[in-house]
Amino acid sequence: MTLTDYPTFSESPFFFDRRSASIPQQEDGIVGPHSAPRVAYYHPKNVGNYHYGERHPMRPHRMELTNQLVLGYKLHEKMTMHAPRKATEQELLEFHDSDYVDFLKRVTPKNAQNLTKDWTKFNVGDDCPIFYDLFSFCQQYAGASLAAARKLSSDSADIAINWSGGLHHAKKGEASGFCYVNDIVLGILELLRYQPRVLYIDIDIHHGDGVQEAFYLSNRVLTVSFHKYSADFFPGTGNLSEIGSDLGKYFSLNVPLQDGIDDESYISLFKSVMEPTITTFRPSSIVLQCGADSLGCDRLGTFNLSIAAHGECVRFIKSFNLPLLVLGGGGYRQSSVARCWAYETGVCLGLNLDNDLPETNYTEFFGPDYHLHPPLTGRIQNLNTRQSLERIRMTIREKLRYLGGAPSVQMQEIPSDLMGFLASEEKDEGELMEEQPDIRREGRLRNGDLLEKEVNGGGNGESVGGLPLGGMRRKTSVRI
Ligand SMILES: [Zn+2]
Repeated sequence: MTLTDYPTFSESPFFFDRRSASIPQQEDGIVGPHSAPRVAYYHPKNVGNYHYGERHPMRPHRMELTNQLVLGYKLHEKMTMHAPRKATEQELLEFHDSDYVDFLKRVTPKNAQNLTKDWTKFNVGDDCPIFYDLFSFCQQYAGASLAAARKLSSDSADIAINWSGGLHHAKKGEASGFCYVNDIVLGILELLRYQPRVLYIDIDIHHGDGVQEAFYLSNRVLTVSFHKYSADFFPGTGNLSEIGSDLGKYFSLNVPLQDGIDDESYISLFKSVMEPTITTFRPSSIVLQCGADSLGCDRLGTFNLSIAAHGECVRFIKSFNLPLLVLGGGGYRQSSVARCWAYETGVCLGLNLDNDLPETNYTEFFGPDYHLHPPLTGRIQNLNTRQSLERIRMTIREKLRYLGGAPSVQMQEIPSDLMGFLASEEKDEGELMEEQPDIRREGRLRNGDLLEKEVNGGGNGESVGGLPLGGMRRKTSVRI
């Protein structure tokens, strides 16, 4: 096949197409001053300088490329920019086991050979190598997600972005799939301090197993993952039948897909799943993991999504006008990842970005076209049939009926250390706003007050925050 067999990006129905009412419209510049979303952007200093190793597909440098495009498009003039502090050890322990955090803190490439007995226990090695300053890297991206979550909780932003986060495979006590610390779980736990229900959406090509597992028993977090599912594709979980258990039954949704899904099928399925999920669950905020390995031409992924279609998922979720935490994730073709996340930063801001990329120090990465939306080449055969997608759609809609309306949340104390965290945040103008309790969103109560006065009407008598006090609990799940 030749390139001309495929439509160019600008011919895509999701790109500046105004022919059909059913097709999303690009916003025309910034929306009005009163409706423009307040976007906070988190970029840990030097996060792009870490290195997993020469042959490893994960390249933190993609964050630097992304940031350069964001600056090149002058998006920093439209949002608040933050260089967050590192997460503390104590903050990591909100989810992770202490022996695991201690291992991450101690291990270095130099002493790794002396700690080989821990390699199996904590699942480090090939996929999750021990590289220089690993713990600092984890603290950086986790600190950014935590700061972003606090920004939303204090109602000083509508959307908070951390492209260095979204490491969805990390488990409570072990590394997995290039992920060491699960910043998503930490960010959701932070949101749950103030909010009764959080919706987690994952559009990485891999199943969001670490987040699903953490909240598998909870009805306060509904996880939805769209991913490739097959026995030989990492991590091998995410079947339709994984729905959560105990109080969390029906609060885990999985959309297992096959190779080669295209823009139209993906967006149609995404919207028809997410719209009823949001209206049924009624989340107080949304966390969206935007793994870019679901894009066509990824080095590890096998979907055919364009950047516009990927971004359309962000635009659709943004349209619900709920506090939104936007995170990165996978993505193994650096130039595509940077284009995608720069584009999605523009989507969050409601801006059209010029298809000609701005000049940056890394312009050579974006040849030969130097466009934001290059034509998608090397498509993979679409193995998703219309019938299989319809079956998934129907099954998920059926499961949503079992949700029976969103659960309320029982009275719960806000942890007393929150104000301490806020006080030690980076002191830029935006962060200082978080420290003013009187600007908190009405209904979000202050330190020591009760989170929600609404008492669960669902008969969950012996629960705190939706989890049972006793009974079976997955070792790997969190207590909320
Ligand atoms: Zn992935």
